[in-house]
Amino acid sequence: MAETLFLGRTLSFHRRPEGAEDVGAFDYHETGAVHVKDGRILATGDAAELRRAAPKAKVVDHRPHLICAGFIDTHLHFPQVQVLASWGKDLLDWLNTYTFVEEQRFADMAHCEAMATGFYDGLLNNGTTTGVAYGSVHASSAEAMFAEAERRGMCMIGGKVMMDCHAPEALCDTAQTGYDDSLALIARWHGKGRLAYAITPRFALTSSPAQLEAAGALCAAHPECYMQTHVSENVDEIARAKALYPDAPDYVGIYERYGLLGERALLGHAIHLEPREIEVLAETGAKPVFCPTSNLFLGSGLYDDAGLRARGIHGGIATDIGGGTSYSMLQTLNEGYKVLQLRGQQMHPYQAFDWITRGNAEALGLAREIGTLEAGSAADMVVLDARATPEMALRADRIGTLAEELFLLMIMGDDRAVVQTYVAGAGQKGA
Ligand SMILES: [Zn+2]
Repeated sequence: MAETLFLGRTLSFHRRPEGAEDVGAFDYHETGAVHVKDGRILATGDAAELRRAAPKAKVVDHRPHLICAGFIDTHLHFPQVQVLASWGKDLLDWLNTYTFVEEQRFADMAHCEAMATGFYDGLLNNGTTTGVAYGSVHASSAEAMFAEAERRGMCMIGGKVMMDCHAPEALCDTAQTGYDDSLALIARWHGKGRLAYAITPRFALTSSPAQLEAAGALCAAHPECYMQTHVSENVDEIARAKALYPDAPDYVGIYERYGLLGERALLGHAIHLEPREIEVLAETGAKPVFCPTSNLFLGSGLYDDAGLRARGIHGGIATDIGGGTSYSMLQTLNEGYKVLQLRGQQMHPYQAFDWITRGNAEALGLAREIGTLEAGSAADMVVLDARATPEMALRADRIGTLAEELFLLMIMGDDRAVVQTYVAGAGQKGA
């Protein structure tokens, strides 16, 4: 494949910034370029130097826009693309009234395939190049999700949901079929292209002890796979979990007991954690995932980012479509900023942009593969324009620093600010 030089202002983080002054946490080139060959980044740096080093490379000129690593969404639901923006009282009401009805449609492969197209178009239009997604209970949902990601050359993580109780009959597997279907999907998709499997018990409320035991057996047999579930999102949900598992010390303790926690475990929400639960996350390396638009939409509560980081727990941040209300990781930062404000915590724009790129990659153990513009990484990139709308351009006239530009992008920006998204060096928007 031909070599390409992408010209623009390049921004890539190599560690989490400590605050506004910590400009050593990232590389920024005002007249920068990214040199790409065969879907991989060969170098990122000063454009003049890279042009001298690669005189025959094709040039794609994105000046004066900003080139960052593609965004990573660490928690979202593929079968909820048509549930997003459904009116509901709270988590359990919303699940029963809309989600558990909608997900039944994913028994039909043709429906799964049609939805997969819209799902990935939505992610890529918003600059998201990697997602960690839940399917429905049906193996067909995971099949469609992986097949379409493979076709687009994307790095995706996902799995079929395991749920065998307290849900409509049509949405229930059994401990045995959930295990068998997951095992077959792991064999078929894990490690194929850029895909990885996540063992996916939905949450303690819809899995019997036998099913959580089966999920634990899958985790033990396949430590190379991820594990994703939900925890401590809503106070009624927590009470139900404790009532269903009265012998567990707390909600996290349920998953702990069945061997589901480890470095590759992702726990959606993790809002109302008790001190012992936080200790367990710190000890096991399991990652909480902050889903701000969803937490506000469902009135679930306010995530304690600073409290968790003080214990050395660096979680992910995600949209949680369709409890979440936007595909945009920029809008996710916007709402995340406000949630943390209500907790008396500040998210600096450097930290915010690190989080949705390198930080989320680190939470997935993939920071050498995605999340930065460093040599050797996949050329998954997003090109951003802080003047995308007349209102943004008006505001941009009064900014003078990179931090101000990033903050404008995360507060006012959405898919309109995404000029182009690249997966392994191939442009996705308008393709
Ligand atoms: Zn979720």
